[in-house]
Amino acid sequence: MKNTSFYLLICLLFCFIATAQKKLPKNKAQILKSVEDHKSDLINISDEIWTHAETAFEEYQSSKLLADYAEKNGFKVEYGVAGMPTAFVATYGSGSPVISILGEFDALPGISQKAQPTKEALEEGSSGHGCGHNLFGTGSLGAAIAIKELMELGKIKGTIKFFGTPSEEKYFGKIWMVRDGLWDDVDVNISWHPSSSIEADVQSSLALVDFKVEFFGQAAHASADPWNGRSASDALELYTTGINYYREHVKPTVRMHYHIQDGGQVVNVVPDYARLWMRVRDTKRSGMLPVYERLMEMVEGAAIMANVDYKISLISGIYEVLVNRSGGEVMQKNLELLGPIVYTNEEINFGKKIQEETGKPPVGFDSKIKALEDTRENPGGGSTDVGDVSWNVPNINLGVTTAPKDTPWHSWAVVACGGMSIGHKGMLYASKAMAMTMVDLFENPKLVEKIKAEYIERKGNEVYKAFIPEGPPPIPNH
Ligand SMILES: [Zn+2]
Repeated sequence: MKNTSFYLLICLLFCFIATAQKKLPKNKAQILKSVEDHKSDLINISDEIWTHAETAFEEYQSSKLLADYAEKNGFKVEYGVAGMPTAFVATYGSGSPVISILGEFDALPGISQKAQPTKEALEEGSSGHGCGHNLFGTGSLGAAIAIKELMELGKIKGTIKFFGTPSEEKYFGKIWMVRDGLWDDVDVNISWHPSSSIEADVQSSLALVDFKVEFFGQAAHASADPWNGRSASDALELYTTGINYYREHVKPTVRMHYHIQDGGQVVNVVPDYARLWMRVRDTKRSGMLPVYERLMEMVEGAAIMANVDYKISLISGIYEVLVNRSGGEVMQKNLELLGPIVYTNEEINFGKKIQEETGKPPVGFDSKIKALEDTRENPGGGSTDVGDVSWNVPNINLGVTTAPKDTPWHSWAVVACGGMSIGHKGMLYASKAMAMTMVDLFENPKLVEKIKAEYIERKGNEVYKAFIPEGPPPIPNH
């Protein structure tokens, strides 16, 4: 009797597997296999990038790890593109369609953290992957490789490109790559971001502009002859006071932040130099520009009051993301095919401990597939240089859970999850979802046309112009 039950169970199990596999078309089943085949390599690369935690334009080891793995897998790699030593393009295949995928890999300063659910630096004062870009770059490469393997099997035709895009967090490296026309021959671009939920992302982001303000005065003894001094830090204080009054008179969608980088060195010298990094954002570039103009005019006012000279330098500015709902719908279908991420008890406890440590309700993970949202006119949130790519080629965006619900982003908690199985699971899930979406694009030219038509309609008459100074990107000197 026992034996009969056993065989019945095995039979049912096979039936179940057969039905489950039936649901997934062959090419997509092959994608899952490819990602699983590369699983241990992808996890190792991601963990190495996590450990290096290299910041803006310093990501030499991280970008090399990705570029080398792409090359090892048969991609042609062009390293150091658009004047950035750590930017690269890895290409496989030929002809159309040309589908590309973005990979970031830069870390954030000052948030080093061990892969544990309580706050403790891996290396005190050092950087950490508080935005999960170790997973971002590696997960995207995993997807590109799965597509390449399908091409090798002769199942799909066209070109796959992986863009290694440095310094997302500080200088927005993609702007220089866009300015150099690197997406000009691409039909559709795919991107994702580590998150605390799973969704085909059809929300835009905020446009922003960064500029530097410098004041130049005259140094003097702060007590013996202050009448001989003209204080650069007086101008800086007057300027920030003006900014803070101005806040009341801008639209609620506007955000202004500044970072005082130099306000003088010692207390007994009237400072002859002061410097501030200024950032303005709005949900639309068109709303941000007049605020930017006004903030530049105010610099002169502060300089007149303090009787000092000033200089304003543009650092860079980025566009809000141009949403593509037709693309989002394709991604959504593939998420529903894949289903939710399943966590072990150990992982759930790790997540709950993080929530406890960061003062959030201990509810664990949001790992269900969210329904496709309506696109909001004025979304909240941050900014990304994916925006600039999205005004040059239709872009499909994905968010995948790599940290527990409500985790404070850009924090130690995100670093912790990105260096262990919670982050790895999200990363491999993203590889699969993005590669499955690309399969649809390679198989169905009509879908690509539909996505392109929506892009053209949404872009309207806007003529894209990279918002950066002439010349090369601001690569630090060594
Ligand atoms: Zn990020």
